[in-house]
Amino acid sequence: MAVNSEEDVFFVSDSGIHQRGVFAKCFIPRESYIVEYIGERITKEESIQRALDWEKYAREQDKGVVYIFELNDEYDIDGNNEENPARLINHSCKENAESVVVDDSIWIVAKRDIEEQEEITFDYGYDMEHFLDHKCNCGSGNCFGYIVRRDQRKKLKRMLNASKRTAQQVSALLLKESQV
Ligand SMILES: [Zn+2]
Repeated sequence: MAVNSEEDVFFVSDSGIHQRGVFAKCFIPRESYIVEYIGERITKEESIQRALDWEKYAREQDKGVVYIFELNDEYDIDGNNEENPARLINHSCKENAESVVVDDSIWIVAKRDIEEQEEITFDYGYDMEHFLDHKCNCGSGNCFGYIVRRDQRKKLKRMLNASKRTAQQVSALLLKESQV
């Protein structure tokens, strides 16, 4: 269900989370389709190459890298283009939207009711290996401090708390594990 097919229900503005963000122009009820994630359709092979290139670039520039979305087993969508405002949606540890694949297209859908002027966010779903490269500044009460997918936050938290290791040491350990 699109909220209003005639007109956008969102706008782009400066964000307290990171650079620019996407905000609700009106009240958006739960399960509404907010914006399509538009981009170039690329093969998995191309996708992996681009992701590697960006990971390096993003680390140098402190930019977000979550521009590639999985469409299906064969193709991904590369949303890194001006025509795709959804690329500006920020991560939050307490997100109010999620990406959903519908008939060969990707949509950002409201997970709960979103108030007018509220920033629209979703979980970037980054693996924990590179947590140090992606600090989170989402400001939610349960902010994890790093952009890490939800199902890995507990484990990482345990690793950070349980030992006298520094975050740098935990990061080195995770990277080593991931390369085995
Ligand atoms: Zn956060």
